[in-house]
Amino acid sequence: MIAEIIAAGSEMLTPFRQDTNSLYLTARLNELGVQVAFKTIVGDNFEHLTGAARIAISRADVVVFSGGLGPTEDDLTREAVGAAMGLKLRRDTEILTGMYKRFAARRMTMPQNNSRQADVLDGAEVLENANGSAPGQYIDTVVGRHRKIVILLPGPPNELKAMYEAECRPRLAATLPERHMARRMLRMALIPESQVDARTAPIYKEYTDVETTILAGHGEIQLHFVCAKASDEEAQARVDELAEKVEAEMGEAVFSSHGESLEEVVLLMLGLRHMSLASAESCTGGLLAQRLTAVPGSSRYFLGGAVVYADRLKTTFAEVPEEMVRTEGPVSEAVARAMAEGIRRKTGAAVGVGITGIAGPGPGAPGPDADKPIGLVYVAMSFAGEGKAKVVELNLTGDRERIRLWASQHGLEQLRRGLLERT
Ligand code: ATP
Ligand code: MG
Repeated sequence: MIAEIIAAGSEMLTPFRQDTNSLYLTARLNELGVQVAFKTIVGDNFEHLTGAARIAISRADVVVFSGGLGPTEDDLTREAVGAAMGLKLRRDTEILTGMYKRFAARRMTMPQNNSRQADVLDGAEVLENANGSAPGQYIDTVVGRHRKIVILLPGPPNELKAMYEAECRPRLAATLPERHMARRMLRMALIPESQVDARTAPIYKEYTDVETTILAGHGEIQLHFVCAKASDEEAQARVDELAEKVEAEMGEAVFSSHGESLEEVVLLMLGLRHMSLASAESCTGGLLAQRLTAVPGSSRYFLGGAVVYADRLKTTFAEVPEEMVRTEGPVSEAVARAMAEGIRRKTGAAVGVGITGIAGPGPGAPGPDADKPIGLVYVAMSFAGEGKAKVVELNLTGDRERIRLWASQHGLEQLRRGLLERT
């Protein structure tokens, strides 16, 4: 059972307006176990709209139109659906009378073109519009040998939502077979998408009843699993089973299996180990601290830290020897290590993290760092009572924002990995 949503309106083909109705409709249809397979946006053009309607009705079981039910010349949805399905329009006297009455109540005469809103497709049920004047229409019919449900809803979101709730959901729920959707998501950090796919595809391809999607971005890979079944339990059991198998394959690369963010996981792990954390950040300018402190309750395990941008502050706040900054350069393995160890000592934290790097663009400061490449970042981690901090050298690509974000992502992921080793 698949659905298509068609949003009619030329304004949504400009850079200025978005089709948000389809997001709402997708969520509602999913609740009934109906998967949205296609979304189309069409301008206010009779031929285009008729063509889109024809295609949608041929390939989807449920087709929902949004918009184009108003009284103006560019409101063409009724006519286009009629042409696509070979259905005639008849002017409904009851609707027409209601419209005349509404205008009369406001002591206005109804403009002639408003009567188009009373045009109803053959065989359609009229859906009342509680928040506006254009009624909707609901067609449940058979085309060829296939059952098709075609729904026409008004474009203004408050009208569309109220009409869906009051008129469509009950009809759909009563006629569609009972379906429930379950979802699960696995999240991984800093691992190539192709590698995730190569390792997991043999597993998820076996689950043809579960839809698997891989999303990549911002140093994170997400695997989404969606399954529709007759009962909640059945659907949940399928996605859980698949998620467990994939998790077993990817092992420690998976940082979250119930939606938690990387920051939340790091804080949770600190809590379980009764460890506190402090950070000294240069090129990330406090981004790591910002991400951690965005999580409610983070103050219990994240003590704080310092943004040590100038060389002098690396010494003052993170106890990096002046001599070391001068000879090795502020972007160096030695300085990153000293930052992690220094901030840990200075704050009394159990764990210290240090990040220093060149985010670019433009050449670095004169001195030992002058020839170092943009994207060179060092992330260091120091654990109390363990001797020298571990340092990882990174060569990140992209613009300043991307390098800063990825550096913070590496900082968090290394913390997670480091904490994993210390159960
Ligand atoms: P009206 O009687 O108001 O003309 P209509 O059914 O003809 O209603 P449209 O003319 O297509 O609907 O759209 C009316 C307004 O509703 C648009 O100006 C826009 O603000 C909003 N709208 C329409 N379609 C969408 C959509 N897909 N997502 C979000 N908003 C929408
Ligand atoms: Mg309109």
